[in-house]
Amino acid sequence: MPIIEQFDCPYCMTKSSGFQVVGSYRRNNSIEFVRGTSDYYRVYEDWFFLSCGKCTKCISAFYSLKKKNSEFGLDTAMKGHGSLAQFDYKYGDHMPKDASTDEPLYLPEKVAIPFRQSVSNVAASNWDAAGVMARKTLEVATKDIVRQRFDSEDERERLIKNTWLKARIRKLKETGYLTDGLSDLATLIKDEGDDATHEEEPYTESEARELVGYAQALLTYVYSIPGMVAKVREKVEGADSLRDHSGDSAAKTVPPSKHDND
Ligand SMILES: [Zn+2]
Repeated sequence: MPIIEQFDCPYCMTKSSGFQVVGSYRRNNSIEFVRGTSDYYRVYEDWFFLSCGKCTKCISAFYSLKKKNSEFGLDTAMKGHGSLAQFDYKYGDHMPKDASTDEPLYLPEKVAIPFRQSVSNVAASNWDAAGVMARKTLEVATKDIVRQRFDSEDERERLIKNTWLKARIRKLKETGYLTDGLSDLATLIKDEGDDATHEEEPYTESEARELVGYAQALLTYVYSIPGMVAKVREKVEGADSLRDHSGDSAAKTVPPSKHDND
């Protein structure tokens, strides 16, 4: 049994994925004697190369390992025991921790969740599932925009619970919360996502990758750019208030969206 360790996969985003050691490089190997006794420690410093059980992509992990009075080396341990838990001391660090540049910044968590699933399904070659989750990302994002923008509770309720996605996109366009270009993009994601959901033909790799790319572009416009602008504004206004020594220390930040906690 090869050694298996758990990490959050930076590529397919699987939480606590089982990673299998596929190679290693020993940087140091020594024995520490415990003074005044016959005890000793075997000490190893190893780089491991581990492959994700879900998407097979590799990370490297550095370990410093220590085992008391051990008769065998780590190579034997890897073959015979399959676990690093047997070591008295273990320190590990790994990289990359975050390899994905696919996720737009400043996404609300409930929008990020289906988007991550669409990305991880692409990584795992599940093209239909990737398409379905891209469409779901749009579904959740449009509802989030409604929550943030519409004051009337009745209207929010109606647009979120009793309105089809197509009509919701139209409403967001009419009210100017989605520009013409973004509502076209949203409609494209909806139509393509419908194909992935309902068509008999399997969704292809290029279709899935394109669709996830469209969703990524939409989220960048809807969340990342306003988020970045708000950050810059916060910084500028923070600097201004420091400069004028007005004594008014209340930070002028962009107010959080009204219905964040819904
Ligand atoms: Zn993975």
